[in-house]
Amino acid sequence: MISDCDKCGYKSAKNKIINDKTLCEFCAYFAPEKEEDFNSYVEEKVSWRELQTFRKQEKLGGIRQKRGMKKRAQGGGSVTRPAFGYKIKNNKLTPDENSKLVEEIYLDFLNSNLSLNRLGKKYGFSVMGLKKILTNFTYLGKVKFDGEIHEGNHVPIISSTLFNQVQDRMEKVCKKN
Ligand SMILES: [Zn+2]
Repeated sequence: MISDCDKCGYKSAKNKIINDKTLCEFCAYFAPEKEEDFNSYVEEKVSWRELQTFRKQEKLGGIRQKRGMKKRAQGGGSVTRPAFGYKIKNNKLTPDENSKLVEEIYLDFLNSNLSLNRLGKKYGFSVMGLKKILTNFTYLGKVKFDGEIHEGNHVPIISSTLFNQVQDRMEKVCKKN
């Protein structure tokens, strides 16, 4: 159901109700937790148009990433854990020395008849870990959140042709098991 954000007026089906107020994802993210602060926050109207530039950033993963990092940092864990083959450099996902190995694993999976188990052992991954690598959209330069795939702002390390071939073979292999 599409509703209007009580703070910025942004219309979306993803708006959430918090303390009886409707807030868009963006306004909800910055909302203070204390109820009195919360109410004055919502009363302070802003224009959704002004927030568009930030919303676009969020689509690129910027805010989500920061939020995730904040949460994990508060939890005392490692700040981020990029996909195998990438590292975080200056806050950006950057291919690391393992990126060539990712492509090698993709090609090996296509060209050899090794089972996922065998292939995993060869490279030091569990079957789950290997599956994760072979199906990770990150390698296409994309980001996934809220179940949707978006263009990311990092460098892809696998071509879409290779990726699609691997997905086809993956489907066949998983059916067999
Ligand atoms: Zn809003």
